[in-house]
Amino acid sequence: MIEIKDVYKSFGSNEILKGVSLSVAKGDVVVIVGPSGSGKTTLLRCINFLERADKGQLIFDGITYPLNKATKKEVLGIRRKTAFVFQNYNLFNNKTALENVTEGLIIGRKIPKQEALEIGKKALDKVGLSEKYNAYPAQLSGGQQQRVGIARAIAVNPEVILFDEPTSALDPELVGEVLQVMKKLAQEGTTMVVVTHEMAFAEDVATKVIFMDNGVVVEEGTAKDIFGNPKEQRTKQFLSRVL
Ligand code: ATP
Repeated sequence: MIEIKDVYKSFGSNEILKGVSLSVAKGDVVVIVGPSGSGKTTLLRCINFLERADKGQLIFDGITYPLNKATKKEVLGIRRKTAFVFQNYNLFNNKTALENVTEGLIIGRKIPKQEALEIGKKALDKVGLSEKYNAYPAQLSGGQQQRVGIARAIAVNPEVILFDEPTSALDPELVGEVLQVMKKLAQEGTTMVVVTHEMAFAEDVATKVIFMDNGVVVEEGTAKDIFGNPKEQRTKQFLSRVL
């Protein structure tokens, strides 16, 4: 469904991605792990053009897009097929949970308000927030805010949801509720690409684990391969530090 080929990205003289390729099939839960600064978030952001790669291709549903010079129309097309869950939730503080979820449907996708409200409520129900439709972000815990972020992603019915370290801003006791929601989505067959430091989640849920270090994919395989039988020295070293 998605293929990323040979992605390069520098910030100034700092080369962050050095020829990264990966593929995501429908229903895959691809989990990207690796040390801080290895380029995981940058890669994810390049996939839906939140960051412009310097070089590389995105093949989405059989159509090839140049990551460095896709047109505005192509970028919008890709954004419609994807949804992004941010580390810091990125909610509008002056809007309720339900308004945060419906905003993109009404403004972005031109869905009539009544229909958008129904979709939004269903999405909030799915992440366990049926009681919080009218709560503002400040009235919600971090875990609840992130679940609103996930509901917003589900609501647009994307082909793939991109999760950028969705639990790393949370207090430890709130991490579980968010991972639980993500696990449920994975079990329902949602196609997901997840950047995370939660190794137990990766081991439990990933159909494919990608280990990145220093701007390259060092090793990829099933969770069993990577966690049980890593082949590369760098993967072994990383896992010995984090497991
Ligand atoms: P972490 O797990 O700590 O989030 P990561 O593997 O996701 O790390 P990135 O966030 O992709 O790594 O960052 C890789 C490098 O790129 C870092 O050194 C970071 O400082 C740098 N970087 C990221 N975004 C920018 C930017 N907009 N401008 C300049 N440098 C950036």
